[in-house]
Amino acid sequence: MSDVAFEPGFSRSEALRRATQALKQAGHTEARGDARFLCLHLLGLTPTDLALRGDAPIGPAGADALTQALTRRLRGEPVARILGEWEFRGLTFALSAGTLVPRPDTETLVDSALRLGTVPSPTILDLGTGSGCILIALLGEWPGARGLGVDLSEDALSTARTNAARNGVGDRAAFLRGDWCEAVRGPFDLIVSNPPYIASGVIPTLSEEVRRYDPAAALDGGPDGLDAYRAIVDGLAARPGLLAADGALLLEIGYDQAEAVAGLGRDAGFRVAGIDRDLTGHARVVTLRPPFDVTSVGNKVVR
Ligand code: GLN
Repeated sequence: MSDVAFEPGFSRSEALRRATQALKQAGHTEARGDARFLCLHLLGLTPTDLALRGDAPIGPAGADALTQALTRRLRGEPVARILGEWEFRGLTFALSAGTLVPRPDTETLVDSALRLGTVPSPTILDLGTGSGCILIALLGEWPGARGLGVDLSEDALSTARTNAARNGVGDRAAFLRGDWCEAVRGPFDLIVSNPPYIASGVIPTLSEEVRRYDPAAALDGGPDGLDAYRAIVDGLAARPGLLAADGALLLEIGYDQAEAVAGLGRDAGFRVAGIDRDLTGHARVVTLRPPFDVTSVGNKVVR
């Protein structure tokens, strides 16, 4: 099905036109944007190169790269997976089979953490670090900070290590295999997580691009979507020293999970310090703070 063969002699503008047309014909709603993005990245061009020198030929390497990429895109592979990297808060993150593509929603979590502010050289724990995007973005913003990213997937950990080095924070980031906070010793000033939070029954309704290409372990939050939050808040409640007494736990949540996650936090003895919204207005981040009411651990308390 290679009706998208690109020739070395095609000009940049011609390549863009053909890529757009091929995607449009296949019914892609983002045909123009995707075609442009792929052309810029694969041909190594800036928008200015494309606008002012659109008549330059793409050459053999460009033709090969575009033919392969468009063929993959037409088979339904997301642009991020084709490029093997994606941008998050202006930084570039390598992706692998074990990592979620960083989402704009998750930038809200980073913004919330930055707004909270913290001690001068904070220690940060990122649970379910995936590509490492949250931890690495925070280390980039706080030059004195150090952090630990935990994940169950060795593949994700290796990608996150690459990403930390690539974004200049490798000397302040460590990555460890573990089940949430089980293997971790604190204290941490800030604990962040964007855990899997889609209810298992909803997974089949997700877009094919997400279902087929994002790792199930990064999406599936169990029967009600809340398994990971339970594991995290209960795990922290059972290890009171892990989160510093004046620290904060920031959890990304699904758009309809604010009350449920706040409730789980309260039940585990946390104080709900805030619920932040994303750019589309959905509740997206729950901020929890200690102190744990030690007497409440294991006993549900309602505040
Ligand atoms: N922390 C990573 C991210 O925000 C991975 C999250 C996940 O896999 N659920 O992209």
